[in-house]
Parts: sequence; structure tokens; C-alpha cells
Amino acid sequence: MGPKDSDCIFCKIVEGDIPCAKVCESETCLAFLDIAPVNAGHVLVLPKGHYPTLMDIPKELGGDLVETLSRVGKAVMEVTGAEGLNLIQNNFEVAGQLVHHAHFHLIPRFSDDGLMLWPQTPYENQDEMSRIAADIAKLLK
Ligand code: AMP
Ligand code: ZN
Repeated sequence: MGPKDSDCIFCKIVEGDIPCAKVCESETCLAFLDIAPVNAGHVLVLPKGHYPTLMDIPKELGGDLVETLSRVGKAVMEVTGAEGLNLIQNNFEVAGQLVHHAHFHLIPRFSDDGLMLWPQTPYENQDEMSRIAADIAKLLK
């Protein structure tokens, strides 16, 4: 099942020590309703093992995680009648991560829900964009 952290609220949920509104479970993943939803039907999908951020999740879990996200996303849309679905995943506090056990938010969306995602602005110049892409690509070689 992977590493555990006895102080982690999501590990306690995985262990069954804290209740949750579970929607599905596999050998490696768990999905349950977020207690404070953006919209009703907002689900959290997580690896059962305690991996603090996305970057700590072993690649072997990727297939099960993506399959769970896809299946749960489809069910959430069907049950809530949502017209859209956001997949959001926060890493580290500055990015809004409150629970340091990696998890994925599936948020049903409606044309009239009034939610705005973050503002975006284009790069000021093409050189900056090319340089950043090249720097990232270099680390990925
Ligand atoms: P994040 O800000 O990405 O770390 O998201 C943490 C999420 O966990 C928040 O949306 C909380 O509402 C949710 N949450 C915290 N405690 C519980 C709990 N006991 N059961 C269900 N969801 C929870
Ligand atoms: Zn944990």
C-alpha cells in the first residue's frame, strides 16, 4: 500500500480511522467526496500511499490513478448533470496545498456556476518563452 504518515488526515481516512464519503477504491487508490466542495459532487482521488506531492508519486501508480480519475470523472458528471469537469492538483502551500498527501480534485462544472480560474497573460516576448522551454527541456533529457 506504500508509505504511511501517522499525522496525515488522508492516511487516517485510508486506514478507516476517520470516516469519508467513499465513492470507489482500488488496490492502490481511494476516491471520496471533498468535505467542503467547490460544487456538490467534488471528489478527491488519491494514492493510498503517503506521497506528499505529485512529484513523489511512483510512476507505477500512474495507470491506476488515471483510470480512477477517468472513471470517477465520468460518474461525477453523470450524477451531477455537470457540463464540464476540472482536474486540479495543488503542490506545496504556496500553490494552495493544505493536505500534504498528494490528491487530485475532480470538480463538476456548470455554465452558471460563476467560477473563474486563474488569470493568464501572454509572454511579453518570444525569447523569454523559448528560453524557459529550452531550460525545462534540458532537465528532462
Ligand atoms: P488541497 O488544498 O489541494 O490540499 O485540498 C485539500 C482538500 O481536502 C480541501 O478541499 C478540503 O476541503 C479537503 N478535506 C480536508 N479534510 C477532509 C476530510 N476529512 N474529508 C474530506 N475532504 C477533506
Ligand atoms: Zn498521508
